[in-house]
Amino acid sequence: MNLNQLTIKEARKLLDKKEISAVELTRACLARIKATDKKIKALITLCEKQALDLAHEADGRIAKGERGALLGVPYLVKDNILTKGVKTTAASKMLENYVAPYNATVIAKLNSAGAVLLGKTNLDEFAHGASTENSAFFTTKNPWDLKRVPGGSSGGSAAAVAADFCLFALGSDTGGSIRQPASFCSVVGFKPSYGRVSRHGLMSMTSSTDVIGPMTKTVADAAIVMEVIAGSDKYDSTVSREKVDDYGKNIAKSIKGLKIAIPQECFGDELSGEVKELMQNAMAKFKELGAQVTEISLPHTKYGVPVYYIITPSEISSNLARFDGFRYGYHSEVKKGETLNEIYLKNRGEGFGPEVKRRIMLGTYALSAGYFDAYYKKAQSVRMLITQELNAALQQFDVIITPTSPHAAFKIGEQNQDPLQMYLEDIFVSGPSLAGLPAVSIPAGFINNLPLGLQIVGAKFQEALVLQVANNFESATEWHQPKAKI
Ligand code: GLN
Repeated sequence: MNLNQLTIKEARKLLDKKEISAVELTRACLARIKATDKKIKALITLCEKQALDLAHEADGRIAKGERGALLGVPYLVKDNILTKGVKTTAASKMLENYVAPYNATVIAKLNSAGAVLLGKTNLDEFAHGASTENSAFFTTKNPWDLKRVPGGSSGGSAAAVAADFCLFALGSDTGGSIRQPASFCSVVGFKPSYGRVSRHGLMSMTSSTDVIGPMTKTVADAAIVMEVIAGSDKYDSTVSREKVDDYGKNIAKSIKGLKIAIPQECFGDELSGEVKELMQNAMAKFKELGAQVTEISLPHTKYGVPVYYIITPSEISSNLARFDGFRYGYHSEVKKGETLNEIYLKNRGEGFGPEVKRRIMLGTYALSAGYFDAYYKKAQSVRMLITQELNAALQQFDVIITPTSPHAAFKIGEQNQDPLQMYLEDIFVSGPSLAGLPAVSIPAGFINNLPLGLQIVGAKFQEALVLQVANNFESATEWHQPKAKI
């Protein structure tokens, strides 16, 4: 086995016993990236020298007897998370040459833990999308089939973990962007509760749902990363001060007697027979493991996408107002006699791509005086109903399980001409985002050789329980084991 294929847990043992060094581990990842990323195009920036320096430093700390879960462990980060001194582009022409002046809190935490930053991964521009086709630079390919998308918006991170470029990656999830690409690439994608992980240094998309989370090869690894990145932050007042659980502690505990809810709305016409079958097999497995599986009804599920696509563009239209070419970002050549307004229009017109502009326009419309009540306010009311419905179900049941996405990875170019079709990708993932709940996507099977994940949703701040259910399924199945042949 090559070192880059290790899980965090496996690497930890070898590093601590000094059977391998952080430098060797880092070199293995760098070699894999250099040999394979030409085909996959997961990375926007590779930080080779910096990574080797960090790995040397980690080896020094290990030699002195220091121990830590991520000490010397190489990782990649989605390029909408600020990394000091390293380009952070959000995959937008607007920020093509932007070098972050400070680290996001998650990066600062990973730095002190001694993790090794390898580089930055591709995404849909400003995280708007579900395929990485909206990146201003290039589309990332799915390692399971290079003609297909890796999902999005954290598609670069998902593809990189699936191709063993790193031991783990960070993604961000506003309405599915960690979970859906995890499903398409057969990795674990964990979206924490809103307010569990600091958003400081994450480029704001939809501030009321944005959250950073890990993408890993196993559930146990997701628990390890969560323990390092979660917790309060003086720079983000929306982060809870509640103590961070020991996520690994009960992960292997049996789920016997746990109550699992399956919403019947997730088995409608939009699901193919194959996805239904895959879900039924998963339910049989949960029963075998001793859980009680009950069918329930969540009638508001169908409003998730329409509500999300009012609230998200509204917040985007406000959050992206700062990119005007003066304070930040791309500025076009100024011609003599041009007014300030003309310059703004040129900077934003040329700097933003089509999907970003579409969302700014939709959001500005939904927030405008004449339409605010009909769209934004209405969407907020329905968001409350969706949240109440999910919370009520989660008082009765321990977790809710759904497919992560309605189908496996689609072909590049197949859906990007039709924004509505692309938005429907989010049918099962938007509700938990609007309600701020923790949710994970884990590998659950293959359809025509393409992987597909299932989603486990828990009550707010019950990440430990979600990870326990996920880990039980993972230990009882082999879906996470096959590797993409690339
Ligand atoms: N598909 C969703 C969207 O396009 C997901 C975005 C995200 O979670 N960043 O908005």
